[in-house]
Amino acid sequence: MFYKSTVAFAALLLSALPANAQQSFTVGTASAALGQKATGYLEVPAGVDAGTNIPVVVVNGAKPGKVLALVSGAHGTEYVSIIAIEKLIAKLDPGQLTGTVILVPLVNIASFEQKVPHVNPIDNKSMNRFYPGKADGTQTERASDLITKQIVDRCDYLIDYHGGDLDESLRPYAYWGPTGHSEQDRVSKEMVLAFGLDHIIIWSERPTDPNATRYLDNTATVRGKPSIVVEAGHAGTVETDDVNLLVDGTLGTMRSLKMLPGEPRFIENPVWIEKLSDVLADGPGIWYPLVKRGTYVSAGMKLGTITDYFGKVIAEPRAPVSGVVLHVNAVPSLKKGDNIADLGVVAAHTP
Ligand SMILES: [Zn+2]
Repeated sequence: MFYKSTVAFAALLLSALPANAQQSFTVGTASAALGQKATGYLEVPAGVDAGTNIPVVVVNGAKPGKVLALVSGAHGTEYVSIIAIEKLIAKLDPGQLTGTVILVPLVNIASFEQKVPHVNPIDNKSMNRFYPGKADGTQTERASDLITKQIVDRCDYLIDYHGGDLDESLRPYAYWGPTGHSEQDRVSKEMVLAFGLDHIIIWSERPTDPNATRYLDNTATVRGKPSIVVEAGHAGTVETDDVNLLVDGTLGTMRSLKMLPGEPRFIENPVWIEKLSDVLADGPGIWYPLVKRGTYVSAGMKLGTITDYFGKVIAEPRAPVSGVVLHVNAVPSLKKGDNIADLGVVAAHTP
C-alpha cells in the first residue's frame, strides 16, 4: 500500500499549489506562468575562461501545448536574425498562443558587442560547431552544453536563425535536414514550407551521433525534434524586407504547428538546392566580385578577380558548378582559406 498512499499524498500537494504554478515554464532564470511572458538569463558559469549570461525569454501561452525554441545570434554580427527575434519578443502575445515559445535573441554576446564575425572572441570558436557542448569546456562549449540541456532537451520544435555575416553578401534561404524518419521529416518539411523562404537547401549527410552533433538544429534533429535553419540579411545591414522575412516566416511556421490561430500558407514551388559548392581563396589578396548574391551562374563562369596589393591579377575564381550564388564575399579583404562564394546546385527532383 506504500505506492497508493504516496500517490494520494502527491495529489494533495499538487492541489494545494495555485493553478499557475503547476503550469509555469522555466528556462534559466526566466519563469513564466500560464498566459505570461518572462525574461531572464541562461547563466553560463565561469570555467577555464569567463562566464556569460545569455538572455532568454519564455512566452507561455494561455493554452498549454507544444514547446517551440527560436535561437539566434550564435554569430553575433548576423544582425537581421537577432533583430527579427527582438521583434518577435515584442510581438508574441501569450493570450493568442497555444503552447510555449522559448526565444534566445543573442547567444554570442561577445561577438555582438565587439563586432567580431564568425566566432566567439572569448575562445575563438564558432558557436554553431561545438554541440552538444561540454560542461568543462571553453565558454562556447559550456554555453552549447547549457543550451542543449535547457532548451533542446525541453522543446518539441526548434528554429535556428542565421544570415550573411559582416563579410557575407547573402540571399535568403532555409535548410531542411531530412532524417529518414517519415513523421519527423513531414513536420519539419511543413515548418520550412510554412516559413516561406523561396530557396531551401536539402541538408543531408549530417552527423548522427548525439554526442557529436556539431550544429544546434542538428542537435535537436538527432534528438527527434523537427528543426529548421533560416538565413536572411547580409554584410552588417538591417533591411526591413530581410527582418520581415524572418518575422513573418516564424509566424507562418507557428500557424502550421497550430500554436497561433489562422491558416498557414505554404510556399509553392520553392527552389530546392541539393548540393553546396564552396569557392575558397588559396591565398591573400584584394577581391573584385563580378556576381551578386542571388545571381545564377553556369559552371566555368568567372566570379570575380583577385589582385595582389600592387593591382596585379593573381587569380580569377570560376564557378565549379552551375547554380545560384547563395552568398559572395562582401568585402575586398581575402586571406587564404576564406570563403569567396557559396554556390547552390538546384535539385533535379522535388523532395
Ligand atoms: Zn550564422
